[in-house]
Amino acid sequence: MAAYVTCRILNRNGNQCTAEAVDPSAELLICTRHLAEAQRLIHQAFQRASRAAAEVRQSHG
Ligand SMILES: [Zn+2]
Repeated sequence: MAAYVTCRILNRNGNQCTAEAVDPSAELLICTRHLAEAQRLIHQAFQRASRAAAEVRQSHG
């Protein structure tokens, strides 16, 4: 058994990531690398959402 709790994210090749989870007690077991990737995706999603909102405002202007 591993001495630490591992990240639960699957890599592109379908293997589970073997890096250590940031917070072993958290519901989301995720390593720093995948957490950074998730933050990047969230940031992109927010940018898309704010762009879409801006377009809606313009079309109603
Ligand atoms: Zn990971």
